[in-house]
Amino acid sequence: MNKNDIVTVEITDIGVSGEGIGHVDGYTLFIKDAVIGDVVEAKVMKAKKNYGYARLMKVITPSEYRVEPKCAFARRCGGCQIQEMSYDRQLVFKDQKIRGNLERIGGFTKDQIDTVMQPVVGMEHPFGYRNKAQFPFGTDKEGNPITGFYAGRTHDIIANTDCALGVEQNKEILEIILQYMRENKIKSYDEKTGKGLIRHALIRYGFKTKEIMVCLVVNGKKLPKAERLIEKLIQIEGMTSITISPNTRRDNVIMGDSYEILWGQGYITDYIGNVKYQISPLSFYQVNPVQTEKLYGLALEYADLKGDETVWDLYCGIGTISLFLAQKAKQVYGVEIVPQAIDDAKENAKINAIDNAEFFVGKAEEVLPKYYAEYEREHNGETAHADVIVVDPPRKGCDETLLETIVKMQPEKVVYVSCDSATLARDLKYLCANGYEIRMCRGVDQFPQSVHVETVVLLSQQKPDDTIEIDLDLDELDATSAELKATYQEIKDYVLKEFGLKVSNLYISQVKRKCGIEVGENYNLPKTENPKVPQCPKEKEDAIKAALKYFAMI
Ligand code: SAH
Repeated sequence: MNKNDIVTVEITDIGVSGEGIGHVDGYTLFIKDAVIGDVVEAKVMKAKKNYGYARLMKVITPSEYRVEPKCAFARRCGGCQIQEMSYDRQLVFKDQKIRGNLERIGGFTKDQIDTVMQPVVGMEHPFGYRNKAQFPFGTDKEGNPITGFYAGRTHDIIANTDCALGVEQNKEILEIILQYMRENKIKSYDEKTGKGLIRHALIRYGFKTKEIMVCLVVNGKKLPKAERLIEKLIQIEGMTSITISPNTRRDNVIMGDSYEILWGQGYITDYIGNVKYQISPLSFYQVNPVQTEKLYGLALEYADLKGDETVWDLYCGIGTISLFLAQKAKQVYGVEIVPQAIDDAKENAKINAIDNAEFFVGKAEEVLPKYYAEYEREHNGETAHADVIVVDPPRKGCDETLLETIVKMQPEKVVYVSCDSATLARDLKYLCANGYEIRMCRGVDQFPQSVHVETVVLLSQQKPDDTIEIDLDLDELDATSAELKATYQEIKDYVLKEFGLKVSNLYISQVKRKCGIEVGENYNLPKTENPKVPQCPKEKEDAIKAALKYFAMI
């Protein structure tokens, strides 16, 4: 395959970024905007030895999953990657993405995954779901101010005030801002020269309260003739907060460090479930409130709180999950790295009269291990306990130091909320090698039309009981059962690694029985009348006991 070759190819798979994948004589091509099931004509843009990237030139036979995109800019805009795929198929893609990572990175078997996986929670209306949008401003060839979205991987602005993912009010607000700029000769900021005033417009909408916030990010301190803009904006129903955020830095960070109120108040209010939040221009808040409620509902369902539990919510942001869970728990502790978010979390606890949530600023991988060590010191070796630990880390997942401490604390349940199923799978592998088991796993589609998917997983401790069940399975003469091999094999591997000793299933079962762990009636039962059954030597018995301890079976 060479650059500029034109090929006809059937799309048989979907890549992690939503691109179509097809094969031509064993050579793999990645083709953006091609939908699984399409037969397309594509032009090779980059050819490596075994794979290449091609541009979609023409859809020859459209896939049954191909739909007309709602937005005219769907292909060019960097915001949506799979708008041309039917929504049902998007959900299948997301389900497969999670499964694929659990299998490849997590090392879980298809059977294990089938047992725990529930179908992805989709949206009834997968458009207009975002409560927040940050529109960059620029200038067109004629010198007029424009606003819209960045084209994929660039900072070129596609002029579009009507993004299909945002609320309908965005369009009117943006048109008012553009008109104000034209009438008052106010220029858009230019990244290249660092000149011009208006950088971004942040618009937030409270889905439950219908309150609207507009914050203009400006390359300066003031907005000239602001009253002319305010006068128009306050005509819009629900307008609650108009602010500016000065940002004169020349980097890619959108917001300034502070904001100033031009009209109304500095925040809007919204609800997730019955928890109320005050959202300022600078605070983090989940962008899809409808799905967030489902996501946290699922986390709450998995945590299955009865009212007397101690819960940790790590990577808590503004305390959204913490406050959701606090209503059903005895005590919640939240940990978050951004101090401003913790201020918001405390404030949110206050306005909801929630007094059983405490928040700590710091890295989860430092705060929790430190808490654990101090607790042990102050309580004469007694270890800190948690009933449920919730983690909701950023894309890079959890630090291993944190996972180690979680394992030490032995919470009954771990609820893992993840925005990247690859790092999730890596972390689950660690937890499952250290005494936990996945009980439930479910994707929640927070970002329809994009390739992203959130995942919620419930883990609980592997119980000695589980081992009994598995052992009994063996007794049903299924000696090759995969789960079983894993358990005995894990013990064998551990003993070999830690003590350099090889032990047999027989010895393991003998030691298990000695330790009061039942192994089925007829399994390798030493019959006293049969003196030929070898007995496990002391050295190996101690090693197996150490393994049983390690796997928390005794
Ligand atoms: N659970 C929250 C936010 C999750 S987003 C919610 O649903 O609203 C992940 C959060 O982790 C962000 O707020 C980010 O600031 C924070 N974070 C990133 N690295 C961290 C670390 N090492 N320790 C603690 N928090 C961290």
